[in-house]
This record gives sequence, structure tokens and C-alpha cells, in this order.
Amino acid sequence: MTTVGILGGGQLARMLALSGAPLGLRFLIMDATADACAGHFAPMVVGDYRDERALAEFASRIDVATFDFENVPSESAQWLSERVPVFPSPRALATAQDRLAEKTLFGELGIPVPPFVAITSRDDLDDAIARIGTPSILKTRRLGYDGKGQFRLRTTDDADAAWSALGPQASTVGLILEGFVAFERELSVVAMRGRDGEFRAWPLTENWHVDGVLSASLAPATVDPTLARVAHRYAETLAHALDYVGVFALELFCRDGELLANELAPRVHNSGHWTIEGAETSQFQNHLRAVLGLPLGATDPLGHACMLNWIGTMPDSDAVLREPGGHWHDYGKEPRTGRKVGHATLRADSRGELAEALLRVGRALGREGQVAPVIARLRD
Ligand code: AMP
Repeated sequence: MTTVGILGGGQLARMLALSGAPLGLRFLIMDATADACAGHFAPMVVGDYRDERALAEFASRIDVATFDFENVPSESAQWLSERVPVFPSPRALATAQDRLAEKTLFGELGIPVPPFVAITSRDDLDDAIARIGTPSILKTRRLGYDGKGQFRLRTTDDADAAWSALGPQASTVGLILEGFVAFERELSVVAMRGRDGEFRAWPLTENWHVDGVLSASLAPATVDPTLARVAHRYAETLAHALDYVGVFALELFCRDGELLANELAPRVHNSGHWTIEGAETSQFQNHLRAVLGLPLGATDPLGHACMLNWIGTMPDSDAVLREPGGHWHDYGKEPRTGRKVGHATLRADSRGELAEALLRVGRALGREGQVAPVIARLRD
């Protein structure tokens, strides 16, 4: 009996555990909070990732470790990797944890990125603004997620406000100024690499964010096949360069028909949740297959799928459950502003049917605004 240890006990760990059950796997979750939602399905070690005693207990009870949370301290991942196999590797994790390191790597690999400059002081910020211009975005190098740790500068007059907001973090997590990309679309490649180096990717996903948080995903994205091939090639290049094992997401901006890389998420990703019902093999099961060295599952789409995120509170489930292609995911989390508490996936055989289903669900839940951009894309 194989036990997979997961660092972080949120919805990603929960969905990993659910998808691993048919493979006969057991799971052990490590999280600092006892009521982490993955703990509803798997035993837990409750403790801080820096707590060596808790980590030692975790290591002694598992065969392999992986992550639901990418900001596990790299020293903890390293410590663990000296005791059990850890996938993705601490090196890949460390690169993805640092916006400067990952953007530098993208550039070295020939993957285009928005202009960026590392910032350590207020003077650096002025110099960077002079080079990159505005609009631009000041971001923390580490520990930012879902639009947190970011400040948008509309004009140079915003420099003081940006520095007041994030300047104190320049000496702790570091800062980076990035050119603002007036993108037409946000896309992601959800892909995986096995222990033997085999690479596979799901079809490209188009994503819509609200206030920096993912709101809806559509897959397969309705993009030019050449563009999709370029995106997949970037993901493959990156996976091999990092000797990556497991599922990851590469987030991309599309502007004037060109792709610019935003970031690498070194784990299963919200923009891949549609694969549970919308693809032959889900990102969750394939991640487990990859880290265990099992054959990787097919990534073919099953028609067309749209994932809608539920943020803050769960809506009523009836409208989605009534749909023939409607699937409901309640993470069992307490409602809280800005928190991802669940999602729904609507699946259909044609784009037109998917648009109709989205229209019905959007109206029934009073979420017309959330479904509108997806419907517009489906009807393009
Ligand atoms: P991130 O945490 O870097 O993934 O940013 C969250 C969201 O903010 C992205 O998905 C975009 O919608 C937006 N964003 C981040 N960086 C940029 C950028 N350089 N230009 C335009 N929008 C951005």
C-alpha cells in the first residue's frame, strides 16, 4: 500500500486524495491548520512546515511527497527530500516560488516575458519606472498569489503609493516591477512530465480573472492551433529544463497574437479543474501517476468544458445539478470573503450547447456577469 504525503491541505490536496482513491492509494496531509479541508478525506499531521519534529513524523509515514501549496519553505522541501522522494523537486519549487528566478529562466529558454526589473530600494523603483514606464505592476517576488502582493501603477504619480504598500517587503520577500500587458486573452497550459521524462499537456485553457482571482476557465480554448503549439512547446521546454515531475501550469498572456509568460505554478492548478469531468484523465490523477512513476493518462478533452469558481460563499447547487453536463464541487470550507470555496464544471458536446447551459446557470444563480465573457467567446 503506497502512501502519498501532501504538503498543504487545501482543495487541491482534497481533489488529489479523491482522484487517488481508485488507484488504491493512501494519503497523509500536512498542514498548520487542523480543519484544512483535505483532512476530511485523509489523516493529517498538523504542524508548521518549519517544525522538524512534525516534518519527521510526516516523512516516516509516507512513501513519496508532493505539494498542494507552492510556498512551502524551500529548506523544508529540501530537508524532506533527503528522507523521501519529493516531486516536483525542491529546485523546481524554489524557481517557481521566485518571480525573478522564474522570469529569468523563461528568458534564458527563449520564452517571451513582459519587461521586468528587480527592485531593492525606492531609487530602484524610480529607475525601473523610467525604464519600463507605466502602466506597470509592482509585485512581491515571493509569497504572492491570486493578485495579492501586487500594486498597479497607472502613472508615475503612483510610485509613492506603490512604495508605501509594498516597499517594506523589499528587504524580506523582494520586489519586481513588471510592464502591464494589455492582453486580449489569458491562457494557461496545464501539463505534466513523468519520472521518465515523458511530457503531456491538456488542450489550452482560456481564463478570466476578477480582482486577480480566477473566475472562469474554458477548455479547449478557441485559439489558433499554431498558437496552441507554441504554448505547448514553451511548457515542454520549461518542464525538461527544470527536470520537472508532476503537473504544473504555465500562465500566459496573449497580446497581438503573441504569447508572454506570466508565471509557473508548480502544482495542479485551478485552471485545470475542468479536466476532472472534461478530459479523459484529470490533472489530479495524472499528477499522482507522474509522481509515482505510473503510466500517464490520456489528456484528450471530452467535448467542451467551462469551470466557474465559487468565491466567498457557495451558491445554491440546484441549477448546476439539473444540467445534464453539470458537476458540483463543494470544498467543505467555511465561507470567507475572497476564499475559493468550490467550483462547478459544465460540460457539453458542442460550443453552442455549452453556451446555452452557461446562460441557464448564469441566470438561475444571478451570475450573468461571471458567465458573460465565456458565452461571448463561445459565440465568437
Ligand atoms: P499573478 O499573481 O502574477 O498570476 O497575477 C494575477 C492576475 O493579475 C493575472 O492573472 C492577470 O490577470 C493580472 N496580471 C498580473 N501581471 C500582469 C501584467 N504584467 N499585465 C497585466 N495583467 C497582469
